[in-house]
Amino acid sequence: MRVRIIGGGLAGALLAWRLSDLVPDWRVEVVLTGRTGRVDATAASGGAVRAYEDDPGQRRLALDSLVELLGSPTLRRWADFRPSAATYLRRDRAGLDDAVAEIEHRLPGSARIADAAELAGLGWAGLAPGDVAVVERQAGQIAPGRLREAALADSRARCLESTLDVVATGNADLTVVAAGAWTPGLLRASGLPADSYRTKSLQYSVHPVEGTRPGQFVDGVTGVYGRPDGAYGLLLGVPTDAWDIDPDAPPTTPALADRARRLAGERFPGLRIGPARLRIGSVDCYHDEPGLALRPVGPPGHGVFTFTGGAGGSAKTALAASLRAATRLVESGRTAQPTPVERR
Ligand SMILES: Cc1cc2nc3c(=O)[nH]c(=O)nc-3n(C[C@H](O)[C@H](O)[C@H](O)COP(=O)(O)OP(=O)(O)OC[C@H]3O[C@@H](n4cnc5c(N)ncnc54)[C@H](O)[C@@H]3O)c2cc1C
Repeated sequence: MRVRIIGGGLAGALLAWRLSDLVPDWRVEVVLTGRTGRVDATAASGGAVRAYEDDPGQRRLALDSLVELLGSPTLRRWADFRPSAATYLRRDRAGLDDAVAEIEHRLPGSARIADAAELAGLGWAGLAPGDVAVVERQAGQIAPGRLREAALADSRARCLESTLDVVATGNADLTVVAAGAWTPGLLRASGLPADSYRTKSLQYSVHPVEGTRPGQFVDGVTGVYGRPDGAYGLLLGVPTDAWDIDPDAPPTTPALADRARRLAGERFPGLRIGPARLRIGSVDCYHDEPGLALRPVGPPGHGVFTFTGGAGGSAKTALAASLRAATRLVESGRTAQPTPVERR
């Protein structure tokens, strides 16, 4: 069986690595774009990892990924894992007890719920009395670009350079488009349906800061999120609503950096946060059903799939999502008699 993966971001690289392990006799090829200087989502990623997500499906993937990462010295080294606590603020407690129990079951002693009074003692301000947060002890930060390189190097996949901007299946039995934010454009250029996929701008800024920095945090009330960066910096971001962005021209919007700085300053009045010294913009792929997953595309039985939909958060879910995707791909390779779509 011959599998061609188009795109060597975190998704494509981990999928190739999983397949090399699950089906060593399959021939796996990863098509890397020949364009130099392209900053993909994996290279730009903030790399924050934790188990808690509002969405139960994404939470399961994030938890499975974190458990695998923490349990593997090799993966921790590849990903340059740096541990730190994570705090996720929510306006109400609905569903949080179950979520914390799920995390505790797999990572005992890691997760608990902190109320507004405790958070105030930790430097948080402007809280409503009912505000609560999931605090995780075992969370942290990875370098997704380094994990991608290590996974590709360890896999037995053949890497091919290409500048083609269509889904060229060649002699492959199965083709997986793992081209992140380039996926919708590639599908359309290949005459394949792409309406369920969209691109969206993600941006963050890095600020000099004085005062005791919080660990990784998501403020689910105002939207600002952040984490320590290096010895003295604070990475801050707020969600954008810039949809359908060309991934080759990601915007950086100074007003967003200012907004993130203002919101973080109000939430942590003990910090002195300076103006942004670095602004990063990149684009990720979103799917109608959120999350990084293997999805068939085009006519049934043609053996073409996508593996994308990271939605700004798949550094934390990619390990488990890639295992799930590789397992599904192996099943479909064993049961189907795929007819590759014609080369265009
Ligand atoms: C700014 C930013 C910050 C983020 N921070 C976090 C975070 O803190 N925590 C978290 O969990 N997640 C985070 N994410 C999300 C996570 O990093 C992404 O979901 C993930 O990296 C997406 O990986 P990918 O492989 O799907 O896409 P990409 O990394 O974009 O990779 C797609 C690859 O396909 C290639 N390609 C495109 N066209 C072709 C072609 N025709 N042929 C061959 N190759 C092609 C591209 O060059 C690229 O290398 C962040 C994302 C962004 C953008």
